[in-house]
Amino acid sequence: MAPFFPWIYPSLFFSSLFIFHELVPSAALRNYPENEVTLLDSMSAPGDLEWLAYPAEGWEEISVMDERNTPMRTYQVCNVMEANQNNWLRTRHIRREGAQRVYIEIKFTLRDCNSLPGVPGTCKETFNMFYHESNNANLWFIKESQYVKIDTIAADESFTQVDVGDRVMKLNTEVRDISNLSKTGFYLAFQDLGACIALVSVRIFYKKCPLTVLNLATFPDTITGGDSALVEVQGACVNASEEHETPRMYCSADGGWLVPIGRCVCKPGYEEHKGVCQPCRPGSYKASATDAYCSKCPPHSSSHQEKASECVCEPGFYLAESDPRSMACTRPPSAPRNPISSVNETCVTLEWSPPSDTGGRGDVTYNLFCRKCSGDGRKCVPCGSAVHFVPRQFGVAVAAVLVTDLQPHSNYSFTVESQNGVSDLSPSPRGEVTVNVTTSQTVSVVLKERRSKDSVTLAWQEPDRPSGGVVEYEVIYYEKNQREQNYTVLKTRSHMMTVDGLKPGTTYVFRVRARTEGGYGTYGGEIELETSHEDILAIGDPNQVTILVVSIAGGIVLLIFLVACFVVSGRHCGYIKAKQDPDEEKMQFQHGRVKLPGSRTYIHPHTYEDPNQAIRDFAKEIDASSIRIERVIGAGEFGEVCSGRLRLQGKREIYVAIKSLKAGYSDKQRRDFLSEASIMGQFDHPNIIRLEGVVTRCKPVMIITEFMENGSLDTFLKKHDGQFTVIQLVGMLRGIASGMKYLSDMGYVHRDLAARNILVNSNLVCKVSDFGLSRVLEDDPEAAYTTRGGKIPIRWTSPEAIAYRKFTSASDVWSYGIVMWEVVSYGERPYWEMSNQDVIKAIDEGYRLPAPMDCPVVLHQLMLSCWEKSRSDRPKFDIIVTTLDKLIRNPASLRELANSSVCRQDPTTPEVSVTTVEEWLEAIKMGQYKESFSSAGYVTLDSVLYISASELGKMGVTLAGHQKKILSSVQSLSTQGTQVQV
Ligand code: AMP
Repeated sequence: MAPFFPWIYPSLFFSSLFIFHELVPSAALRNYPENEVTLLDSMSAPGDLEWLAYPAEGWEEISVMDERNTPMRTYQVCNVMEANQNNWLRTRHIRREGAQRVYIEIKFTLRDCNSLPGVPGTCKETFNMFYHESNNANLWFIKESQYVKIDTIAADESFTQVDVGDRVMKLNTEVRDISNLSKTGFYLAFQDLGACIALVSVRIFYKKCPLTVLNLATFPDTITGGDSALVEVQGACVNASEEHETPRMYCSADGGWLVPIGRCVCKPGYEEHKGVCQPCRPGSYKASATDAYCSKCPPHSSSHQEKASECVCEPGFYLAESDPRSMACTRPPSAPRNPISSVNETCVTLEWSPPSDTGGRGDVTYNLFCRKCSGDGRKCVPCGSAVHFVPRQFGVAVAAVLVTDLQPHSNYSFTVESQNGVSDLSPSPRGEVTVNVTTSQTVSVVLKERRSKDSVTLAWQEPDRPSGGVVEYEVIYYEKNQREQNYTVLKTRSHMMTVDGLKPGTTYVFRVRARTEGGYGTYGGEIELETSHEDILAIGDPNQVTILVVSIAGGIVLLIFLVACFVVSGRHCGYIKAKQDPDEEKMQFQHGRVKLPGSRTYIHPHTYEDPNQAIRDFAKEIDASSIRIERVIGAGEFGEVCSGRLRLQGKREIYVAIKSLKAGYSDKQRRDFLSEASIMGQFDHPNIIRLEGVVTRCKPVMIITEFMENGSLDTFLKKHDGQFTVIQLVGMLRGIASGMKYLSDMGYVHRDLAARNILVNSNLVCKVSDFGLSRVLEDDPEAAYTTRGGKIPIRWTSPEAIAYRKFTSASDVWSYGIVMWEVVSYGERPYWEMSNQDVIKAIDEGYRLPAPMDCPVVLHQLMLSCWEKSRSDRPKFDIIVTTLDKLIRNPASLRELANSSVCRQDPTTPEVSVTTVEEWLEAIKMGQYKESFSSAGYVTLDSVLYISASELGKMGVTLAGHQKKILSSVQSLSTQGTQVQV
């Protein structure tokens, strides 16, 4: 061994520092991440660090030059030869600048004690790091007890040899953090207890979420919170923008921005361009903040300046107040065209064609003005209120009006004026057209009649002073009181007419009117005439009776036929319903009116043409403002999963999990993301994760579910390995089976049942989750491609589902068996590290997972039945639930362990063979209780198998240790027969 010269170690040590600059870039060259704010960097301190070292022979500040010849300050200590070292090095007061959590990054080298020949056993290879919070920046002394320990630091790479030429020295980097700081600053201290250390660099920093602009809102530099809490930050709208929905984001503990909510929008006259609001150019405009972009001015309008929120109409063009600003400017319509009148005695129908120019609008209406004129038409006066217009006089939307109550044989002049929504804004006169009409003479009345049994002859006089000659007469007749049903109109130029083909002995009503050139006159009078009588039905006439009977019988038959048709058609409807296609079922279900027989049925969101309808049907829309996001708890396929609180009106606040859809998603991603909600929303069971609702009306789109405090089952079990009783484990399995029974009753096949997709709440209640449509394909890291191209979580999936995608509730039962195995083995990976291919092959050859450690026989048997090759041999979920219920009610049935002889036997413990109770008690060194056993009637080994602790107590075996020893030996007697460990 080389002689030891204590004084050479420091010098060797220090000489090595000359190569530090190769390991640590000089401060000028170091680039720190954008979200780290450095509070102290020993490498870039301009002068001496002036850290306090005590005692004086401990830490020493040594300056070395970096490659730019700038001095670098380092601290070293290497008192390895002396025992009882306690060397402290303390920084000056470091202000925390508002940070609650700061990080300390140290770079150091540490000598390996073994490499120092002759050093005593007191040589250390670690040192301690402490801090002391204080508002006082000038503390000259801090007691050891006032420090809070951060950590003991050891080197990952202690160097054994200082060989500058070989460059063997390695630099260690360690980062620690201190949380929840509250005073103005703190002192950092390093305690050396006898190691050989060179502290090359100490950097103290905190993390912030750097200033960012998103959705037109500026989010300032934000210091991250203490612990891992999220800090909610409200953004400020950028210039020329305004809040659409309050912009918010969360600053996470590691300095990243999360879950942007809300946004700002550019004010009217501005549009968004690369994250800022730019003024609209001349010729364009933006009327509302919610419009995305500036638009070109509509036809017949223009804007001459920037920032226009509206365009100005050209002269002669207008926009009505209620017109949208995006509409082209319009003008009043031209005049109505082609007026025609048809006079009907003292009524006139006026009709016209719409204007050739509607002014660019669809709201043209008409006003009518009536004037009564003298015979020569020279002098006209307004008609007054006695004249009526149907439908109305002003604002008529159709191009026709009936004018009534005119005076007979008079001249009228009607003016029809057109107008539209902007006519009132225009000073020019409105377009109009005039039509003159003369009303006609009233017609004469019927004068003469002649009747027979089937005809009537009418005669009438010509009207007085007909306006223009009579063109024709019109005779209208109908059976009395039957006008609505049936009437006949006949025309003649003569003033006489014989109407025949009438029914005998029937009363008819006749009316006559004349049509002159001026139009129809009014009906002159009304006359009722009865055709002459004739026996139409003689009761004694056998033919007539036959006709009557046949008619009545026919009527009855017809009636019966109609009723039958009605009934049959009703039945037919029923039949159609029974054969409803899925869509029809969907309608029935979604409106909740008709319940399908039995339980409710799951409806696949793909049966909806519009996936948004599925969401509306099955998920409640939640207002984003009722959600408070608190921290990130996981990562889903579509974005972060956070926890938070939900307060709905009139309800108490509850903890929820919030899955959000990350920005930049496609339509398909949005659909797939939300499909989970439209599936989950159909379920209502204590062992199925409950959907609280969705946020779809604003971004980010979110799915809100109940919060499961203990997260996913696989991680939870791994964390609590061996900590639950078998009854607790069976309770969890019972819950999962019950949830799966509910799903299979609803006709839902999960396809990815695995412990990672079960969530656990604070009461250890397990709930089935993960219902997304794409989840098996995209989400599950366990899913692997099969030869048929599908992606399947092989280890959890039944052979028929792997081979030909036969996914059924029976394949879910297979997966359930695997979950049982996962639970009992506390999260062990099924088939351990076997490859997927080997698993498929082994299963095909009949291999099944063995019972996990300490697994009750009955549970392993249940697992094996779930893994029956033929899916019809597997138990249904209701049987699984009942089986587990029985086990819970009878815990003794769980006592027998499947592999106790394999797993629980201590190989070093010898075994003896026993045949009697006495031998057995002797063998386990409990011979003192032989009497007690025989007097209590336990004379055969079989009889002791069911003994309990309370019975042992009654027999006088009161010591807990003795009871335990006897009972555990009874347990092994039951599994291994007469072999007893002693
Ligand atoms: P998922 O996208 O559903 O697989 O969720 C990803 C992770 O977020 C899960 O593994 C859980 O750790 C967590 N998580 C999801 N939903 C909830 C919830 N309702 N309660 C608690 N943690 C959840």
